[in-house]
Amino acid sequence: MVAEFNETEISEIERIYASQKSHYALVGKTKASERIAKLKKFQVAILKFRSELEEAMWKDYRKPAAEVALTEIYPVIQEIRFALKHLGGWMKPKRVARPITMIGSSSRVHYEPKGMCLIIAPWNYPMQLLFAPLVSAIAAGNTVILKPSEFNSNTVQVLKRIVDEAFDEREIAVVEGGVEVSTKLLDMKFSHIFFTGAPEIGKIVMAAASKHLTSVTLELGGKSPTIIDETADIKAMVPRITWAKFVNAGQICIAPDYVIVHESKKEDFVQGMAQQINKHYGKDAIDSPDYLRIINSRHFLRLKGYLEATVQQGGKVVFGGAMNEAENYIEPTLITDVKQSSDLMQHEVFGPILPIITYKDKQEVIELIKSKEKPLAVYIYSRSKKNIKYFIENTSAGGTCINMSAVHVGNPNLPFGGINNSGIGKSRGHYGFLEFTNERGVLHQKLPSAVEFMAPPYTRFKQKLIDWTIKYL
Ligand code: NAD
Repeated sequence: MVAEFNETEISEIERIYASQKSHYALVGKTKASERIAKLKKFQVAILKFRSELEEAMWKDYRKPAAEVALTEIYPVIQEIRFALKHLGGWMKPKRVARPITMIGSSSRVHYEPKGMCLIIAPWNYPMQLLFAPLVSAIAAGNTVILKPSEFNSNTVQVLKRIVDEAFDEREIAVVEGGVEVSTKLLDMKFSHIFFTGAPEIGKIVMAAASKHLTSVTLELGGKSPTIIDETADIKAMVPRITWAKFVNAGQICIAPDYVIVHESKKEDFVQGMAQQINKHYGKDAIDSPDYLRIINSRHFLRLKGYLEATVQQGGKVVFGGAMNEAENYIEPTLITDVKQSSDLMQHEVFGPILPIITYKDKQEVIELIKSKEKPLAVYIYSRSKKNIKYFIENTSAGGTCINMSAVHVGNPNLPFGGINNSGIGKSRGHYGFLEFTNERGVLHQKLPSAVEFMAPPYTRFKQKLIDWTIKYL
């Protein structure tokens, strides 16, 4: 059931923007204790609306309550708890060393807020991907306009109520709408834009930001490979890959996009995955209350088209393949004999279809991964230290799990993000705080400076001093 889609009027956006503009300097001066109070209030509001969130996400794409709790609410609560614990330390100016030539001075890094920020989020994790960066922005002392996706109409209403309950709109406000509203916001001057979404849209965001020389964090997507070598423990790994690929019906930026498995392990892997999918979702996933739908018919038809075109090019569906257009349902699907030129290998899948490719020699794995854009994640399943080292050293990715998939995003001590086409900048924990912060270098001169001894006129003595500096200091 789709709730009525509200689009914030342009005049209303301008009013909110103006109110934040007149307020951001004050917000920037808040102490750690005040930001902590805001985050605590935010946490209370989120928990208060838990059942409304569960209901709304079920209506939007049948997300089960357990997944709302585990993959939407918990990551934000965890982010808040982490910030509450560390915020005082993060905000404190940090004394840094100085070179001997700067004797008589001391240096510190001050952490000042960037100012007015914009967060644009996608639909696949509508709460987590809107609110986790918001925690970092609040911790750093900014005002924020939030633009959630237009595809989660029910959820967005609840997210708005949470924000209205917890914050003054002069500090944090939700603006609703699609491309038109997003474009309007991108025309406005912000100090930082945090965007999560597709690489093609990331380019539009970055181009718009360049007009104001606004800094950006781009959390993008792409094709994240899973490598399974000849030493991998298939029995231990299939539950992990099944979970990471089919939770949220594969609509995850860090889902295993495709598998590249050593040919000696292919049969065991396919059989193991088939059994595990049945364990998770029963004989027919359409009847499972734990299996999501595709967000809308546009994405359903996109996935259907990819699958059909890949089958026409020789791909073999070895598990699943059933669809129900009326429900936007696609069964968890495994497909082998996939050509590199097929739609499923040319585009990010972002759905519950897993292409399985085999290899004989390690070099083939590297060639395949390097033939594509640098991924958001590379997953390596192996019991060989030598192979793990080889795969890490010969690829580049935003993040990696070894003998696991996708959970690296859950460790707030790790930076999360992509590289180039899969993203720019990092988020979560301290990395998220820094993304919304200007690290301002402050040097305090307390005694006469060495510069004074080397200023014009450049006498013979001063020139000698300069030569000596170059040689020894
Ligand atoms: P999307 O890029 O289509 O939309 C994201 C946001 O951008 C939405 O709020 C949308 O309204 C807005 N938008 C869309 N077109 C726009 C335009 N022309 N101008 C300005 N704004 C525009 O992405 P999506 O379909 O919502 O999400 C899927 C993509 O997001 C996938 O590529 C996925 O990998 C990526 N993603 C990345 C992460 C991450 O953390 N790196 C997380 C989730 C999703």
